[in-house]
Amino acid sequence: MKKYDFRSDTVTKPTQAMREAMYVAEVGDDVYGDDPTVIELEKLSADLLGKESALFIPSGTFGNQLALLTHTKRGDEVILGDACHIMMHEVGAAAVIAGVQLRTISTVNGHMDPSLVKAMIREDDLHYPDTGLICLENAHSSGAVIQLEEMAEVYEIAKKHGIPVHLDGARIFNASVALGVPVKQIAAHADSIMFCLSKGLCAPIGSMLTGSQTFINRARKNRKLMGGGLRQTGIIAAAGLVALREMTDRLGEDHENAKYLAKELAGIEGITVFEDRLDINMVFCEIKNIENHEMFIKSLLDNGILINGPELGEYRFVTNYWTPRESIDLLVQSIKAII
Ligand SMILES: *Cc1c(COP(=O)(O)O)cnc(C)c1O
Repeated sequence: MKKYDFRSDTVTKPTQAMREAMYVAEVGDDVYGDDPTVIELEKLSADLLGKESALFIPSGTFGNQLALLTHTKRGDEVILGDACHIMMHEVGAAAVIAGVQLRTISTVNGHMDPSLVKAMIREDDLHYPDTGLICLENAHSSGAVIQLEEMAEVYEIAKKHGIPVHLDGARIFNASVALGVPVKQIAAHADSIMFCLSKGLCAPIGSMLTGSQTFINRARKNRKLMGGGLRQTGIIAAAGLVALREMTDRLGEDHENAKYLAKELAGIEGITVFEDRLDINMVFCEIKNIENHEMFIKSLLDNGILINGPELGEYRFVTNYWTPRESIDLLVQSIKAII
């Protein structure tokens, strides 16, 4: 039976074009700076994001933590949203690797009140830690996109205080499609940006960190320190190039499929869809009338559909390249039949 996987966009497998590009990729030792495919990917990434330089990194978490380590010194304070990935899903790495203290501000669907950010910046005082960094996330993993005005306001406050801004842009290409602006315009409101080639763009492995030349030079050395200096990386960078050249423009299809799924689910009794964060390829909903969640998930699997169990009472369905419109219909029909 054909299987459709709605658990995440991290489950996406490489496309045929990626597998072919990987097969023929020219490679070299990237720690020596000898891998032409990596060099090409780093150049393209920097150009797309409108930054001076870029660095290939093994994962998004690696890139965020590398940015924290490179921007800050031990004991610094980092201001970020309370539901962001760096705070929630990176194993407390900020305390272990950069040795920084995280200061969260409460957010709604990832939205940060710029005046709260401003209030959290430390004054010069013997007792206080230094505010070393402010982190933003767009698109936010709650499924919402942050408006450019909001980012611009935070960035301006940060500049005024001489504090760098890092953007967790794991899904910046989804944000770009949802906002209808080039990624460059989103990236303009941060000093460093991490984005993923995996996830919706379907590359099997890899993320990029972009920023100024000085920042990336320092990050390159810290990447080595963290054990992320890879050798014939061109094999995976080749898939990354296909991701950036062929897979970004189609993300709108995933967003449309998510909206279609949301509309269909909302028509089923007992399902509440959270329509206020339906900006990208994710649908969050509450499903009443399910007595046994494990049985529900098992029954969907019997129909060829993989989903995750609810987190804090919410189900999340993620659309991607490998979940075409027919699979959305299958998902909806199966849920109807089960409940
Ligand atoms: C997935 C994700 C990451 C981390 O990426 P990994 O490659 O899984 O480590 C970081 N931030 C956000 C917002 C994400 O969704």
